[in-house]
Amino acid sequence: MQPDRSISELFAQRRPLRSLEFFPPKDDAGVEALRQTAAALKRIGPDFVSVTYGAGGSTRERTAQVSAMVKEEFGFTVMPHLTCVGHSRTELLDVADRIYAGGFRNVMTLRGDPPKGASEFQPAADGLRYASELVGLLKARHPDFCLGVGGYPEKHPEAASLDVDLAHLKHKVDAGASFITTQLFFDNAAYYRFVDRCRANGITVPVVPGIMPVLSLKQITRFTEMCGAALPEKLVKRLEAAGEQPEIVETIGIDWALSQIRDLLARGAPGYHLYILNRAKSALILAAGLAA
Ligand SMILES: Cc1cc2nc3c(=O)[nH]c(=O)nc-3n(C[C@H](O)[C@H](O)[C@H](O)COP(=O)(O)OP(=O)(O)OC[C@H]3O[C@@H](n4cnc5c(N)ncnc54)[C@H](O)[C@@H]3O)c2cc1C
Repeated sequence: MQPDRSISELFAQRRPLRSLEFFPPKDDAGVEALRQTAAALKRIGPDFVSVTYGAGGSTRERTAQVSAMVKEEFGFTVMPHLTCVGHSRTELLDVADRIYAGGFRNVMTLRGDPPKGASEFQPAADGLRYASELVGLLKARHPDFCLGVGGYPEKHPEAASLDVDLAHLKHKVDAGASFITTQLFFDNAAYYRFVDRCRANGITVPVVPGIMPVLSLKQITRFTEMCGAALPEKLVKRLEAAGEQPEIVETIGIDWALSQIRDLLARGAPGYHLYILNRAKSALILAAGLAA
């Protein structure tokens, strides 16, 4: 099997990269629905797609299954995610070897969130505490892995300050990460400030903005509360005015994302990563809007 191209090589072409994120469905029906989504998205030709890694249990196997499916059936360059949650070093190396043997050369490398109900992250026995350690482990095992890491324009919720968080982000890059994908945000000013502070802290790798087209006010309120991203009042007012009309809410979400992306690309962002929640529609409309 032909190994994937390294995403660093794609960034080196100095054109904006478009990437999409899938999450592994819980059951076979969900995988089939995702197959339809991937087929629809094939025509906009994303530069790569990523597949998240679940907190535990069967969805982890599905990360491998879905990654293989979208690579083999649709020819996408695929970046599986991997987290430290619940894994010993030996298990992490085993997963890494399987990712490598599957022809994947790009991995989104994360610590993961504490399991539901736990207030703080606890490493597994002989496991890892920080994503920077996982970056080091994977790079030592497979030096040609291209590793992405998460970045938080509005600070990781557990970090005491953005400065402290940036110092930890620098560890991840120094350990071998090639690019940063940000947590979702709705105010581009937060991204620009973050990139400036990354550069001031000696972080020179691409910082890819993560954009989520809103699908529902309730859902996005929950997501932003969890990840600490601010929801601009102007956006909330528009979503509230749309009330229980999902099509109008979706249109507002796509419009907001489109303005964000236009501005980001105009100001030199290295591309954009779309959190599409396994739906094709917003990505297709955004691609059409950006081509217009
Ligand atoms: C692009 C992206 C994709 C994601 N995909 C997934 C996914 O697939 N599955 C999933 O479960 N979660 C995913 N997440 C969520 C992520 O797992 C959580 O945000 C998690 O809480 C932190 O992961 P991290 O890799 O950023 O951790 P880390 O970089 O390890 O940071 C976690 C916290 O520890 C602090 N820290 C780091 N190093 C040190 C140190 N040496 N000393 C003290 N403190 C330190 C940091 O400041 C931060 O507060 C994703 C997040 C992003 C941004």
